[in-house]
Amino acid sequence: MIEMQDVWKTYSNGTHALQGVSVKIDRNEFVYLVGPSGAGKSTFMKLIYREEVPTKGQISVNGFNIGKLKQRKIPYVRRNIGVVFQDFRLLPRLTAYENVAFAMEVIEAPNRLIRTRVPEVLELVGLKNKANRDPSQLSGGEQQRVAIARAIVNNPSVIIADEPTGNLDPENSWEIMQLLDEINFRGTTIIMATHNKDIVNSMRRRVIAIEHGHIVRDQMRGEYGYDF
Ligand code: ADP
Repeated sequence: MIEMQDVWKTYSNGTHALQGVSVKIDRNEFVYLVGPSGAGKSTFMKLIYREEVPTKGQISVNGFNIGKLKQRKIPYVRRNIGVVFQDFRLLPRLTAYENVAFAMEVIEAPNRLIRTRVPEVLELVGLKNKANRDPSQLSGGEQQRVAIARAIVNNPSVIIADEPTGNLDPENSWEIMQLLDEINFRGTTIIMATHNKDIVNSMRRRVIAIEHGHIVRDQMRGEYGYDF
């Protein structure tokens, strides 16, 4: 469970990115974050995976108050959150297999577990046969599948996805959405920022709209609701 109570984020240049946000996201929800560019969507997500800390207010993730977390405890919270970006962010000199394995090596998972778990998630994302390719030998959709495999390999309870279909054509976008839907069905909370009207309007999940750092709409089975 994720809970924000009156969260404010002001960057050092004085930009008020979030201004008094309160929200609860339950285990197993699928949430779309929508709103204009610069509204505060990425900031909202960065606060959850503790890339940023709030200026004011409280954020708890699975019962941990992450704004107050001691530096040495940050890895424990982070390993419970997988992150997927618009631009994939794979390590270019490593194969698909190695990119996914790396996420397990970072948390010092035993080699025995890495050898069984990595092929399992590559199979789940449909890339079992391309495990030995470098990112440059994979299509955009395939690279995003590797990034999703990397995000889920340590069994996080939450996946944060910042415009994961932003660089993909419609067909690949739908395939990525099917994959995220399947991951959600298996029990992972998904929070996804998007400008993809078609996806939001046909999947009909919870929609949280942010404008100027405020939540202006929060609907179950919501719609995209903008013309951009
Ligand atoms: P969105 O994801 O909805 O496009 P962001 O959360 O990225 O919005 O940005 C919200 C506001 O905060 C914008 O005005 C943006 O320019 C500003 N902002 C984002 N990151 C920083 C930063 N590191 N330093 C200063 N301002 C920032």
